[in-house]
Amino acid sequence: MHDLVIRNALLVDGTGAPARRASVAISGGRIAALGEAPGDARQVIAAEGLALAPGIIDTHTHYDAQITWDAGLHPSPELGVSTVVIGNCGFTIAPCRPQHRDLTLRHLTHVEGMSLDVLRRGVRWEFETFPDYLAQIERLGHVPSVAAFIGHSSLRTWVMGEDATTRPACPAEVAEMRRLVVEAMHAGAVGFATSTAPQHNGEGGTPMPSRLADEAELRSLVGALGEVGHGVFMLTKGGGTGVPFLETLAAETGRPVVIAALLHNPTQPEGVFDDLRLIAAAQARGRRLYGQVSCCPLTNEFTLRSPYPFESLAAWLPAMQATGEDLKRVYADRDFRRRVGEELSRPAAVRLFNGEWRKLRLVEAARADNRRHEGRSIADLAAEAGKAPLNWLLDFSLSEDLDTIYTALLLNSDEAAVGRLLRDPNATIALSDAGAHLTFFCDAGFGLHLLGHWVRERQVLTLEEAVWQLSGRPAAIFGIADRGRIAPGLAADLLLFDPATVGRGPTRRVFDLPGGAPRLTTAALGLAGVWINGVQVADATGPLAPERPPGRLLRRFAA
Ligand SMILES: [Zn+2]
Repeated sequence: MHDLVIRNALLVDGTGAPARRASVAISGGRIAALGEAPGDARQVIAAEGLALAPGIIDTHTHYDAQITWDAGLHPSPELGVSTVVIGNCGFTIAPCRPQHRDLTLRHLTHVEGMSLDVLRRGVRWEFETFPDYLAQIERLGHVPSVAAFIGHSSLRTWVMGEDATTRPACPAEVAEMRRLVVEAMHAGAVGFATSTAPQHNGEGGTPMPSRLADEAELRSLVGALGEVGHGVFMLTKGGGTGVPFLETLAAETGRPVVIAALLHNPTQPEGVFDDLRLIAAAQARGRRLYGQVSCCPLTNEFTLRSPYPFESLAAWLPAMQATGEDLKRVYADRDFRRRVGEELSRPAAVRLFNGEWRKLRLVEAARADNRRHEGRSIADLAAEAGKAPLNWLLDFSLSEDLDTIYTALLLNSDEAAVGRLLRDPNATIALSDAGAHLTFFCDAGFGLHLLGHWVRERQVLTLEEAVWQLSGRPAAIFGIADRGRIAPGLAADLLLFDPATVGRGPTRRVFDLPGGAPRLTTAALGLAGVWINGVQVADATGPLAPERPPGRLLRRFAA
């Protein structure tokens, strides 16, 4: 007697093979049998008209802090995600000495767009080392399964203290970091993650620690993965770490290199394709390089209190270092405005905001008599007022005490270009950033968006290709051997959905973070069920509350 049989579904098994009609039996958290009549079960679901796929593996999340207070890792599981990779970009909370806890949270508050108050209330610090962190999250439990990177910025702070944000490491410090990477890999890390991206700043505009690393440091730390013979090197790259340098790391270590964030930038329309061409050439030489791409337009909701889209501008630094009335003085300052304007007039290879004022919209005015501006672009509003857009934005925000909410649709909004990215043979589709930027955007439902928008509406990918990109492909890249496909003996991570209606609903704000702070979320459309290790965690109405969180902490990865 099986625990569950899902009968007569359109089986899309995660390998890319053609979909076929089949029934699937589940016993003891694993897939027990496939076929026309897999036997009796305590529960039978008639799935005519529905597709059954492996649960989504989201390889780019930032649940490192949230996982210590929210075992549900909302909203990912109810959006079809059964496994998450945490610690991306190296923005982790472990290892961390007690005296660096607040510093670590102050780094994260900025780069992850989560309020410092939420982090201070929420994070449970029952660890110092990385192995102890893994033990804690395993003890607390989690609904999806989890694989964790050892993060470069945390490592640097552990070894170098406050110097981590100001200087390169000396050889002894590099050696100690390398020893800790090896230790973390033996404890069960999925790999080593870092960021060299210029928009990655902590509180007060301090660069995230990993941005201070030189090539020798990166070479040594990635070398630790080569030494242990497993693990992925993940980085969000800035201008200084080009694909040719990353290829040398892959060649020296034999390890896969996952390169983020390959987003299409309309002001540099070929840039991302140039990277993918270099990645293809490296693949042809036998190096395992992958470009991490997104199937979602990158939108950012923000106020001028913390305007993420502007923070990769060097001239914005005085604003990042100020708060309260001081911040208002910076925004009013003519020299500040002139320097920002000058910088925007010069083209840059890696920059979030490039002066595209028509892609910035006013979402919510603070004052009732300003509501008429809602929904309009800054370009239009400024033209109407006869002002330069930057001046209009700053003046208007100042008049509303910096409470105006804007949205920026900056990168990945050209559908033809994004379609090319999604079809690139060396692209891996991820970049939800789930768990981070909670008030800016919510792409945790990227998988449902891929299935609805890019498969059904745009027909850029077949259903089989998309499901493979969401499950079998990431499992293979990350060495997750017993997930990502529907086959007898594998973990019963399953997603049951209606291909005719699957998608993600509109973005809305909810207030359920520690202290009642807000976050953005989206609802699933066309979803019938999500199972993790055989336990149902969501149905058509949304998340269920399983008795015990069914996710496993993944600690063993294939070479
Ligand atoms: Zn990230």
